Amino acid sequence: MRVGIGYDSHRFAPDRPLILGGVEIPYDQGLDGWSDADAVAHALTDAILGAAGLGDIGQMFPSDDPRFHNADSLELLRRASMKAAEARCSLVHADITVICERPKIGPYADEMRERLAQAALAGYSNISIKAKTNEGMGFIGRGEGIAVIAVVLMDEAETARKSRSR
Ligand code: MG
Repeated sequence: MRVGIGYDSHRFAPDRPLILGGVEIPYDQGLDGWSDADAVAHALTDAILGAAGLGDIGQMFPSDDPRFHNADSLELLRRASMKAAEARCSLVHADITVICERPKIGPYADEMRERLAQAALAGYSNISIKAKTNEGMGFIGRGEGIAVIAVVLMDEAETARKSRSR
């Protein structure tokens, strides 16, 4: 078994859709970023790449690459998950915490779990989404942005373990 952790944060910006976990959430602001700025998908992608020993999301999908401008981050998650699968690593479970004061994430958590699971080649029950506020403190407390933490457990096939050892 291998573990991975991913962290991402994005600043709120006007005239952008708010997309989290592949779900467009009605809100008066979106998140700023080169891709669709889906911080939930980004944190999960980084956790998966970390567990699989495949670097990080910035190396795999550079933020100055025009191919990833306004990219669908679920597609990036799917591509990273395919790379992990090629390295014989499969997702066992992901636990994700979304930290923001507003909007409320809870009503969208189930749909986010469905979409993330599909992109991460896993099942709905293997993805957990939790949401909390930052109790009014710091940049999150002032409503300037969102942060997301993702932890994953991945199963590594025996053959992959042997081929990695030096
Ligand atoms: Mg990001």
